[in-house]
Amino acid sequence: MSTITEQTSVLNDARVELSGRQLGHVIDGQIDPSGIGDAIVVIDPASGDVIATIPQGTKAHVDRAVEAARTAQPAWRSKSYSERATVLNAVAGLVEANVERLAALESLNTGKPFDAARDEILGTAEAFRFLAGAARALQAPAPDEYVGGQLSMIRREPVGVVGAITPWNYPLLTASWKIAPALAMGNTVVLKPSELTPLTTLLFMDLIKDVLPAGVLNIVLGTGREVGAALSEHTAVDLISLTGSVGSGQAVIAGSAHTLKPTHLELGGKAPVLVFDDAVLDDVAAGVRFAGFWNSGQECGSATRIICAESVRDELTQRLVDSATTLRVGAPDELNSEMGPLISERQRNAVAAMVNRARDAGATVVLGGEVPDGAGFFYPPTIITDVVHGSEIATQEIFGPVVTIETFSDEAEALALANSVVYGLAASVWTENLGRALRVSSLLDFGTVWVNGHLHGVSEMPWGGFGASGHGREMSIFALEDFSRTKHVMIATGATS
Ligand code: NAD
Repeated sequence: MSTITEQTSVLNDARVELSGRQLGHVIDGQIDPSGIGDAIVVIDPASGDVIATIPQGTKAHVDRAVEAARTAQPAWRSKSYSERATVLNAVAGLVEANVERLAALESLNTGKPFDAARDEILGTAEAFRFLAGAARALQAPAPDEYVGGQLSMIRREPVGVVGAITPWNYPLLTASWKIAPALAMGNTVVLKPSELTPLTTLLFMDLIKDVLPAGVLNIVLGTGREVGAALSEHTAVDLISLTGSVGSGQAVIAGSAHTLKPTHLELGGKAPVLVFDDAVLDDVAAGVRFAGFWNSGQECGSATRIICAESVRDELTQRLVDSATTLRVGAPDELNSEMGPLISERQRNAVAAMVNRARDAGATVVLGGEVPDGAGFFYPPTIITDVVHGSEIATQEIFGPVVTIETFSDEAEALALANSVVYGLAASVWTENLGRALRVSSLLDFGTVWVNGHLHGVSEMPWGGFGASGHGREMSIFALEDFSRTKHVMIATGATS
């Protein structure tokens, strides 16, 4: 953990560095600051201050970036897995060597605590290292199968040019989860970062410009409506991968439908936390303190929807309130801040309005629930009970530091409530009964199920959802499959066995 003096100093360095830099798209290795209309302002959510401006890109910028990616792709795909891994490991090394700089900028742009940003930057390096190595081990099945006198080969090939669109909650980490598998498999990429948090992606590009050939990774800045839509619709983009809201996922599918390109979508979530009567309630409280309020609840797998046995409701509620009360909320350069602001005024208004509607509908706010005075877009840890099953607060993604509590009377009702939302990203089960843990896990309609934990992940394991949470997987060997395509080559040999 870094000291407060060090944190303040690196955040100030990030502010100073930003004031001297020209920010623009990165197309074929060149920075292009051109755009249309007013520049987009980038805001520090802890203060509300403008910290940078970026240009609004257009379809013409996307066309040029896609052309650069297409031109660069044959040379990039013709490299061996080993050669590409050498480049991607060099990228990881540059990220690690600049972890403090990148973390300070991420912290400044998102408002999240410096140490959390630091962990994410290290996760970015890990994504490049893991996927570069894993791609080398990804062997096609049945490389020399004789069937009826034919020799069959299964080839795994790049899809071509990948369009990638990323959100603001983990800006560089979510970008790395797309860039690393795409490049490892021999694709080239055009990436559009969130217009709210483009800064670390641009610094990353600056850091790696000497190790990645021009055109292999291109960045176009701007809004989803303009640049994201142009990428989705582009006839020369071969696959589009988005991490974002359900609405943006629907727009990407609609925009790309005429090209029939595959989509890879990591969308919203509404994770249930099933607490049975034999659960260790202190562990549940500690788990929800972490996973319900991590990143100010702006987390697609957030432990936001507690569904507990009626018999433990009162005791669990008390423990949750006691533990959430101890969370230290503050700007990244305030002492030991554990939870920062929400990303924008708009996001805070949306969260506050949803909590107010729940209160008006009869729910009880037992902790938080009021917008604080002062600068920045802070919102307190909030816990809500007396939640009506099926109500808005119980079924729609909140994306803020808000945890709701509902109850069940038996296992069947627990499962029915958990599965009653359109989302299917992640869930957790808290019980000391192994048989129940395994049974319930198998019946939950979610892409990840934790038992007696919530929100942890490892590079070797996949992340992705069912239903409205999207399709496709990130990290693990499954991401490498998603960012490549399978080809069967059959050779007549005359052999008979
Ligand atoms: P968002 O959908 O508003 O924006 C995400 C990206 O999509 C941005 O770059 C945005 O500019 C772009 N975009 C917006 N409209 C678009 C359009 N019409 N066409 C193409 N691109 C468009 O999401 P956000 O507010 O940045 O992030 C929060 C959402 O992301 C939440 O719903 C959250 O659950 C989800 N998320 C999911 C995961 C996951 O792994 N499943 C991870 C992080 C965030």
